[in-house]
Amino acid sequence: MAGYSPALLDEIPTSVDIVDLVGRFVNLRKAGVNYKGLCPFHAEKTPSFTVNPKKGIFHCFGCGVGGDAFAFVMRQDRVSFPEAVRALAKAAGVALPEEREPDGADSGRAELHRVMDLTARFYAERLAKPGGERAREYLAKRGIDPDVARRFGLGLSPDGWDGLLTFMREERVPVETLENAGLVVRRDTGTSVYDRFRGRLMFPIRDLQGRVVAFGGRGQGDEQPKYLNSPETAIYTKGNLLYAADIARATIRDKNRALLVEGYVDCLMAHQHGFTETVAALGTAFTPAQLGILRRYCEEVVTFFDADVAGQKAAERAAELLEPSDAGSAWGVNRAGAFDTGGAFRVKVALLPTGYDPDTFLREHGADGFTQRIAAARSLLAYALDRTIADPDGATGPRARSNAFARAALMLAKVADAEEAAVLSREAAAKLGVDATQLWIESQKLQSALRKPGAVASKPAPVERERAQDRTLVRLLLQHSPARAALLPITHDTDLVSSSLRAIVAALRARPDTTAESLLVDLDDPARSVLTALLLEEDHRFPEDPDVSIAGFRQRLEREHHLRRQREIAQSITDAQRRASVVDTPVQDFQALHRESKVVYEMLGKVAQSLEPSEKNDPRRSSDE
Ligand SMILES: [Zn+2]
Repeated sequence: MAGYSPALLDEIPTSVDIVDLVGRFVNLRKAGVNYKGLCPFHAEKTPSFTVNPKKGIFHCFGCGVGGDAFAFVMRQDRVSFPEAVRALAKAAGVALPEEREPDGADSGRAELHRVMDLTARFYAERLAKPGGERAREYLAKRGIDPDVARRFGLGLSPDGWDGLLTFMREERVPVETLENAGLVVRRDTGTSVYDRFRGRLMFPIRDLQGRVVAFGGRGQGDEQPKYLNSPETAIYTKGNLLYAADIARATIRDKNRALLVEGYVDCLMAHQHGFTETVAALGTAFTPAQLGILRRYCEEVVTFFDADVAGQKAAERAAELLEPSDAGSAWGVNRAGAFDTGGAFRVKVALLPTGYDPDTFLREHGADGFTQRIAAARSLLAYALDRTIADPDGATGPRARSNAFARAALMLAKVADAEEAAVLSREAAAKLGVDATQLWIESQKLQSALRKPGAVASKPAPVERERAQDRTLVRLLLQHSPARAALLPITHDTDLVSSSLRAIVAALRARPDTTAESLLVDLDDPARSVLTALLLEEDHRFPEDPDVSIAGFRQRLEREHHLRRQREIAQSITDAQRRASVVDTPVQDFQALHRESKVVYEMLGKVAQSLEPSEKNDPRRSSDE
């Protein structure tokens, strides 16, 4: 394992609190000896992601992934094993033996992170130093506190074409790396490159670990476009991040609420006024991935619309909410899948006066005014429902009313959160002048019709073919040392159908004195995930006492070995017959076959059937029994 000693690999995970580690990405709740939360690796509505602090492992019973702290970091940060070891060693304060940075592929991402960090510091210095006056004046005019600007790492990209390039040349960063980081652009002639961001106020965009992965650049004057963003790179995917999520995460979890705004300045201003649970969407549409991030930390999101466009925008968002794609289940407004004790994920709308955004509103009305607007926030779906009920042509009369009734029932049918659906039904019924029960029943009917053609559910990863008894055997080997001593020597690869179980047993055979958890570092997926599942399936206790299980498995394994031996001998007889004449079949082979089959039949509690060479039985047929 890349030159790390087993002792070191054992030491690091014991120095890391896996609940704390996973808890930085997943909203975990205690459930017995385990912690549970929504899986960060697949979209799900009910928590099947399990963390066991005592064993230091995680496993998702939805998509089947699992492992130890290393495996979690590898998967979450998409890094190699050595990188995960380094990251966790650093976090745990464990010293690593000196080692060279590998020149391999995984150093590419690390290099991009380094260059982005360097760039962020370069831009921040430009803002603070002479030459940054105009940008600083602009910030002052917008009412942005210098402390907040520093906390968000704001910077300034120099005018001209090569400010960053020149700096990076001195830092010996290759042009190719700058290109890969999206910081420079190649001229059409292809011969040279120039700075992508010039004379702009720079907003570093960080991932959840606080690493700069992209920049947003705002023009200080009339230059177009007003906002220029980093292109996608190996470390940045659009729509997968929320601006300031790294800074806001702790408060979002504490308040169980996130405020979602559109612009960088809106976000800064909200933080400056004490709303440190604010994030920005980095684009006009909120993606399911972004909602998925928020959903891990809280149960309520408040977004802000100008009163003038609220209906329109709410309708657009509601459409995204109610017509989820495969990935869209991250919205998670689900009638059955309420998190834990019923707190579903709610999206609310706070109305701002016409022409205002959070930035301008906060500057004029302050934190108190903003708090009032948030307190008065209504369900996003309620706004959308108002719009649904309103006749598009402004028609009235019985015909228009029954159309509105149908549209409302259809929309309500798609609202999966039962509590919210009931409230909305009452509101809609009052507006339509109909009986709420009637509307509710109609929506229920539509709902079951909508649900029929295969509800959108997250598909679990294909389960490897394996036999239940193989699993029980391996679990016994892992958890019970007398079983290990008795059964490991007689468990052969051929006894296990699943390659993952074979890999686990091979790892156990290599280190038979170790704990089951510490085998995780010896395994790769899918075997590693199968191991965590075996370790966490608490309800699968052995039906009998282990000694009985050991005896049972011993018998089964021995029987199978004999059967296999019998088959092999039969095959060798067949082969011999094919090669030579039938008469030449070695008698000792028949005798061996007979002995083996006798043993097997005795084990099966039957009388050994006749398989005398003199009776000219077809050995192939016997071998099939
Ligand atoms: Zn999962």
